[in-house]
Amino acid sequence: ANMALHQAKAAGGNQTLFFETDMGSVAASNFRVESELRQAISQEQLRLYIQPQVSQNRQIRGAEVLVRWQHPQRGLILPGQFIPVAEESDLIVELGEWVLGESCKLLRQLQDRQQQLRLSVNLSVRHFRKRNFVDWMKALIQETGIDPSGLTLEITEGLFIDNLEDVIAKMNVLTELGIWFSIDDFGTGYSSLAYLANLPVHELKIDQSFVRRAPEDERAAALVETILVVASRMQMDVVAEGVETEAQADFLLSHSTQIISQGYLYGYPQPAEVLMDQLN
Ligand code: C2E
Ligand code: MG
Ligand code: MG
Ligand code: MG
Repeated sequence: ANMALHQAKAAGGNQTLFFETDMGSVAASNFRVESELRQAISQEQLRLYIQPQVSQNRQIRGAEVLVRWQHPQRGLILPGQFIPVAEESDLIVELGEWVLGESCKLLRQLQDRQQQLRLSVNLSVRHFRKRNFVDWMKALIQETGIDPSGLTLEITEGLFIDNLEDVIAKMNVLTELGIWFSIDDFGTGYSSLAYLANLPVHELKIDQSFVRRAPEDERAAALVETILVVASRMQMDVVAEGVETEAQADFLLSHSTQIISQGYLYGYPQPAEVLMDQLN
């Protein structure tokens, strides 16, 4: 119940799990989510939620954009309910273009107010792999007038499993523009660590599962410590995800003063407008 409350709070309250329970078959349910989601994008039912990322002294150094679906009948729906379905087709590209477009508009507003916040946006592997992704991104930067050095793209290790040459070439072009790359859920994928030596990676995000277990579990603690050493030696930033308790925060801060933290302990994901108001 506690977990459900956390989730509801993280979603901004009023969220439902309609899609999982209502339909008899998963296939039929996926089909309906897909067609409803297609409409949702064009009818502007998606919302940007933003979760702060803080440095050791609890100063906000950036924020992650987390999409939600404000459904007219079902309330607020979390991405776990629709991103996996979207990822089965190019619907994830449409969704991703919407999220990136809105995120760059938001970043532009922040930059216009001289806010040095870094905005992190989740990017799906399928979207990154699109042939025109780099050109599309360049056009978006032009159109919104952002300074791209305030933008971080969160990717996952799945991107490095094949077609690595193409991935490297694209990452290099975007890096030259000033964009940062962050590896989300770091340590949970199946790719080799070798890619870190060859790719422009600026940040690692320690997966929530390690953060949760580290204070008590020695092996999880060892993993967190190792990630911190790798990042420090390679001059990357590190973000700890899913920090919920003081014990977790103490563990992390006792191992690194540079670490950036993100989690319910510091702030739930909130509508982008709320964050903008707080910054005023
Ligand atoms: P993620 O990128 O790893 O995001 C972190 C997730 O952890 C978010 O879930 C966030 O709300 C949740 N979280 C943050 N702090 C805590 C905490 O202290 N405790 C716990 N238990 N959870 C915490 P959310 O918003 O439900 O998003 C789930 C996943 O959906 C994201 O995982 C990301 O993979 C995907 N996603 C979200 N927005 C987008 C998007 O715009 N595009 C794409 N492609 N994927 C997205
Ligand atoms: Mg993320
Ligand atoms: Mg993550
Ligand atoms: Mg994730």
